[in-house]
Amino acid sequence: MTISKQKPTVDVFEQLESEVRSYSRSFPTVFEKAQGYKLWDTSNESYIDFFSGAGALNYGHNNAAMQQKMIEYIQSNGLLHSLDMGTIPRAEFLQEFNDVILKPRDMDYKVMFPGPTGTNSVESALKIARKVTGREKVVTFTNAFHGMTIGALSVTGNAFKRGGAGIPLNHSIAMPYDEYIEGQDSLAFLEKSLEDGGSGIEIPAAVILETVQGEGGINAASFEWLQKVEALCRRFDILLIVDDVQAGCGRTGTFFSFEPAGIKPDVICLSKSISGSGLPMAITLIKPEYDKWGPGEHNGTFRGNNLAFITATEALTYWKNSKFSQSIQEKSKMIKQQLTNFTTVYPELEAEVRGRGLMLGLACGKKEMANKIAEVAFTKGLVIETSGPDDEVLKLLPPLIIDEEGITQGLDIIEESIKEVLAKEEA
Ligand code: PMP
Repeated sequence: MTISKQKPTVDVFEQLESEVRSYSRSFPTVFEKAQGYKLWDTSNESYIDFFSGAGALNYGHNNAAMQQKMIEYIQSNGLLHSLDMGTIPRAEFLQEFNDVILKPRDMDYKVMFPGPTGTNSVESALKIARKVTGREKVVTFTNAFHGMTIGALSVTGNAFKRGGAGIPLNHSIAMPYDEYIEGQDSLAFLEKSLEDGGSGIEIPAAVILETVQGEGGINAASFEWLQKVEALCRRFDILLIVDDVQAGCGRTGTFFSFEPAGIKPDVICLSKSISGSGLPMAITLIKPEYDKWGPGEHNGTFRGNNLAFITATEALTYWKNSKFSQSIQEKSKMIKQQLTNFTTVYPELEAEVRGRGLMLGLACGKKEMANKIAEVAFTKGLVIETSGPDDEVLKLLPPLIIDEEGITQGLDIIEESIKEVLAKEEA
């Protein structure tokens, strides 16, 4: 006799899990399966994914080729855990990443494996910048998000997250990000401060930035602004760190988000979708002249996730020609067009469209609107989150492999949700 096992309900998270949980609150169900751009819960309700694991699932859920390679590796008793010992998957990833990503872009970088999270990559970037320059301060920008550990938090803007540290967050200088104050040259103050020995601002070790701020509200810096930041860094011998944890791995349409700006960062942080499968993995790319680590100076137990290396190598097949990149731009255009329509058809939202590639946002001037839309959208079968200091931006991050049907279905749900929320507001 087989005893059928009852499927869990959301109660277990409420009863047993810490108050720190967040996404199980925004999406109150128990998910069971996922494939491509769809998820299913235990009641077999299906959902379109406009969230992609906060950018960790750019290639969708459960890619068949990745699955197959993992299964073969496990069945051959391949090492799963190996710190940073030499393994075949590690070697193959390094070789393929060099051949498919770095070399064709004429990028000469050493690949470092920090702990397998974005925040760990950021910590390693901050450390190496301080080590090679002998300076302490790091310039960060308003609404930046770089992670939850103390170093990464110290260069993060969000007051609620910073407050979690419980200690002063030092050694950083916050400057205005691109269009922070409309119509003002946001770099003029930084430039003058660096020139002026009386400014009270020390020459920093590094400047850290996101080319499109994900958590901060889908703020996309102009290429001109990025170029100016780079020029300032060169002029004062400051290291430029690009945190491409969320905007990288194709999210904005090119493998690295900064490619169309033509800048060459000294250090690059990648995580989230670098493994291609959602498995934890991070890398920090360092220009060879700054690779001044001693062996094990920034180490960690989980720098050898071989399954992640296997899927990461497989993910690189998307980048062997320009087709994938083009398809992202086409999808981006389609979504942007419809979001722009929403801003005119629903002026009550007081909304504007933000972002690049498939990192897009509908920033609502009207308070609480974005959160309400996301909440209703979930009940209609769309997984979508908000971002920005007041959660004022509906954040569209569909998997890059999504097709036209999925995009249309997702956008239709957003429109229905807007209508429902506006109708309730009027009532
Ligand atoms: N940097 C950026 C730009 C991010 O968006 C995030 C995660 N949202 C992080 C760093 C931190 O990554 P993780 O959550 O993997 O530590």
